[in-house]
Amino acid sequence: MKNKLILIFFAFSSVAFSQTIKKPLVSAITVKDLKSDLYQMAGDHFNGREAGTLDELKVSMWLADKAKEAGMSPAGDDGTFFQFFDLYRHQVTSNTKFKIGQKEYKLWSEVLIAETTNSRVEAPLLFIDTTIDAVEKAEVKGKAVVILASKEGISDEISLFDRRYPGLFKQKYYELLASKGAAALIIVADELGEKSWSQVEPQMTRGIYGIEGNRDKIPVPARMPAFWLHNDQLEFLKNTKEHLLAEVISETYKYPSVNVVGKIEGIDVKLKNEYVLFSGHQDHDGVRQKYGQDSIYNGADDNASMCAAMLGIARAYKKQPGKRTALFVFHGSEERGLLGSSWYASHPTVPEKDIIAVLNGDMIGRNDVNQAALLGSSAPHENSSDLVAIAKRANDEGPKFELDKLWDKPEHPEYFFFRSDHIPYVRKGIPAVFFTSVLHSQYHTPMDESENIDYVKLHKMTEWIYRTGWMLSNETERPKILPKVKLER
Ligand SMILES: [Zn+2]
Repeated sequence: MKNKLILIFFAFSSVAFSQTIKKPLVSAITVKDLKSDLYQMAGDHFNGREAGTLDELKVSMWLADKAKEAGMSPAGDDGTFFQFFDLYRHQVTSNTKFKIGQKEYKLWSEVLIAETTNSRVEAPLLFIDTTIDAVEKAEVKGKAVVILASKEGISDEISLFDRRYPGLFKQKYYELLASKGAAALIIVADELGEKSWSQVEPQMTRGIYGIEGNRDKIPVPARMPAFWLHNDQLEFLKNTKEHLLAEVISETYKYPSVNVVGKIEGIDVKLKNEYVLFSGHQDHDGVRQKYGQDSIYNGADDNASMCAAMLGIARAYKKQPGKRTALFVFHGSEERGLLGSSWYASHPTVPEKDIIAVLNGDMIGRNDVNQAALLGSSAPHENSSDLVAIAKRANDEGPKFELDKLWDKPEHPEYFFFRSDHIPYVRKGIPAVFFTSVLHSQYHTPMDESENIDYVKLHKMTEWIYRTGWMLSNETERPKILPKVKLER
């Protein structure tokens, strides 16, 4: 009897409640605004918004102005729109030397330094066949192992395969050789490695990036050094009795990166102290190797698209605020390893327990106008079925995308779920999903330009994210977290 009464009570309250939710103000989001914001943000004047450069700081100032114009109030540190943090950069210096016998190789044009480390090695060479079996059998302790690169056993069905191949090949042998006590790894480029050389050089010369708690050791610790040499060195390396003499010298320095944080306050006396966090990243890849005449990586889709969407969503909240507060975090340094979101997730400017959900968007303006993906929407990535249900309902009520089912699978070769700013929040146990129109052939190239965005698609994605946020802002219950979630790829 008692139970039945409670049931009736709940049924009643949910009816009463759904009548009190106002309709989302989708009309406040316009294609015109999205397009204008996106063109400005992905223009050549920001030089590709690379983290740890003045260009990122410049675009962050622009974003803060736009946030203010859209009606946000500051929600960063000390009453500002900004949350600065230190980026650690570890970079191989030009004092690095690589010699075999008396033959000295020119840095970057004749030898690539594939491991950012501080170590000095003198060791005899040992040429080994390119198989795991051969490497396992060989006596490599104290030797500089020479191996010819090979694509065999490495799947090329991933984006930017040319650019990722040298890393994937090295990864396949590095830990095994290091654990067996090899002194160094020298990889001789195969045909594909030669093709990749000019593409990986800008990554290797830039170095590696970290943040407090992650790659923050100074100096960067000594590890087994790894190198790439050109294919024309193969016969010499096989036959020479000379030793390797290498000294890799890396330096570490810190410079500022920044999250831009704003909010539109909720109107419910109690619920306004809870937050729906809209997440995107402001940085991209800067100026790098040319494609045709263009060397500026403007990142229109990646991720000016979500930044423009967040400004649009803020305009809608400004005209019609929700019960809870809408919090907007434009993360810095995403492309350098999800650094801004890692920082914000561990140093939030609002109490962590009051962030009820994170709606992250990354690359939301390309591909089929009727399709989209919601990552974190199925096991083992899903961390809140309540949140996923709300996002799906928002899709049904709004843009009605046909939802992709492949990209969220743990065996998908891109592991895309692990590659954007919701991840540090997932690791904190905060309900989070990732909205995306997924990768395309112009991803991370200078062709990711404003004119290649589908603005109807971008508008539909913005509407979807806004409708999801709107429900979260106004529902009485906050989404619950699931106990078991995959946190690493
Ligand atoms: Zn991105």
